[in-house]
Amino acid sequence: MMVSRALGLICFFAFSEICSYGQHPPVKPVVSLTPAFVEAGSPVLIVISLPNAKSVSGEWLGHKIEFFQRGEKWVALAGVDVEAPVGPSTLLVSAQLDDGGPHDLRKTVEIHPAHYRTGKLTVPPKFVEPGPEEQKEIAADAEVKKAVFASSVDEPLWHGGFRAPVSSPSTDSFGTRRMFNGKLASIHKGMDFRAPMGAVVRASNSGVVVLAQHLYYEGNCVIIDHGLGLYTLSMHFSHIDVHEGQRVVAGDKLGLSGATGRVTGPHLHWAVRWEGAYLDPGKLLKLNLNAIR
Ligand SMILES: [Zn+2]
Repeated sequence: MMVSRALGLICFFAFSEICSYGQHPPVKPVVSLTPAFVEAGSPVLIVISLPNAKSVSGEWLGHKIEFFQRGEKWVALAGVDVEAPVGPSTLLVSAQLDDGGPHDLRKTVEIHPAHYRTGKLTVPPKFVEPGPEEQKEIAADAEVKKAVFASSVDEPLWHGGFRAPVSSPSTDSFGTRRMFNGKLASIHKGMDFRAPMGAVVRASNSGVVVLAQHLYYEGNCVIIDHGLGLYTLSMHFSHIDVHEGQRVVAGDKLGLSGATGRVTGPHLHWAVRWEGAYLDPGKLLKLNLNAIR
């Protein structure tokens, strides 16, 4: 009696898998998000167990996601822009299975509001109402940045967790809505470190330097491409020690902190950009990526 019931259950599951997947082997993907509680501005590590896939891609909030394989898992370091709408969102994943069949997944992810502050700053007037010459420079900078962000290395260059770029303390200023001289409102899309003039700024993870030059607002700026659309940006250097095309690993010296560009004083502005979305650097530093190497 017990044996025949057990056999019946085995047959039922075998049948349901054949019905669901036809000739494909059974696929039971598990999608895990870290952190599980996703806020606007959160970087998110997505891990999918899908051992019989040969490629996996995705889309979330209008950003494409490129996954890479680690053992039997597919991994992506993605995120939610600081200005993303709160509420339910749909994470779409498309896999190409080894036997050629497609497999699509949908997961609803709730975006929770992050409570960012409002702040006021006073900077020289030329940074709030730039003249014609400055506007030309700003437009030229925009083209330079557009070209930099147009193509990212097609594999992950980062290894393990990200580390702070300077030893100076940071301020909890990501996402702050700022009024410059009471006129211009913008959202602060990075983290400020209280770095004095001349503090050594280091690479937070491995990657390739894709920009190392002076820009109007950013001052002396270094951008590192960590692959698959992920970049870190460091601004306001007094001196840059790297050149474009240079490969760096975590801890390599990028330059010295300073007060170039739109600043109220010496500090390091450090930003994290993924597929055009600006993510909270503080949350990236806390994200445990040690299992992903
Ligand atoms: Zn800043």
